[in-house]
Amino acid sequence: MSHSTTSRIQEHIGDPVSDAPPVEREKLEEIFQDIQADLRFDHELNGCLNCGICTATCPAAHYYDFSPREIVQLLWTENLEGIHDAMQEKIWSCAQCYTCAARCPFGNSPGGLVMLMRETAIKHGMESAKSVLRPFSRVMLKLISTGNQLSPDMINPEGFADWGPNIAKVDAPLTTLRKAIPMPTLHTTKTAWEVNLKTSIELYTIWEETGVLDSLETIDENLYDVICDIMDEKRDDYEDFLDELEDD
Ligand code: SF4
Ligand code: SF4
Repeated sequence: MSHSTTSRIQEHIGDPVSDAPPVEREKLEEIFQDIQADLRFDHELNGCLNCGICTATCPAAHYYDFSPREIVQLLWTENLEGIHDAMQEKIWSCAQCYTCAARCPFGNSPGGLVMLMRETAIKHGMESAKSVLRPFSRVMLKLISTGNQLSPDMINPEGFADWGPNIAKVDAPLTTLRKAIPMPTLHTTKTAWEVNLKTSIELYTIWEETGVLDSLETIDENLYDVICDIMDEKRDDYEDFLDELEDD
């Protein structure tokens, strides 16, 4: 996570320890139980020597006030207040590179535990989760509406200033270049490739059944409503397509 994102969370939620009202014990227990109840928890946490090897190898620990050793210790000792505090900001500093998991003598995965804490933060609609995920709403919308995150028409000098003169290699006449690609599904500049309507509908069902859309509703209700409208529209299109097939 970038430094600006970390600062934005801090601005948005204030100092998690000193400003926030105390959280009821019952709520702290509920949050910990949600983390612990995940099937992955026992696989990711086997014990902890407090040796600090994970923190020594963690790239995020070099740049942020973040330590995977501390996260693992909080969970291992069931420090409920500490776990809650870490979920206000620290867990969002992890880059999910899993260097820690490769080095831990106990076979722990601090990065995996951070992932469980993030998912729980989303489930509980924590402000930290809303703040971190808000900038990704455009990506989510693009993904749901087109089936692609990034499309060739988004690759331009404005969007990728850091590419410098290299942008010219892709900022060429995209329509011509795309037509030169043999696969017909790539003959478009509005999406990375054409996504089959049936595939989109199947993805919507998976997201519904696995709780992805419930999580989205918790984090951003407006985006959730827009996405539901898009999904309904596509489902209607698919029904029409099936009706036409039957008529033929
Ligand atoms: S999680 Fe592993 S590497 Fe990190 S402090 Fe505990 S035992 Fe050491
Ligand atoms: S996955 Fe592990 S090593 Fe990588 S940033 Fe997260 S805590 Fe650090």
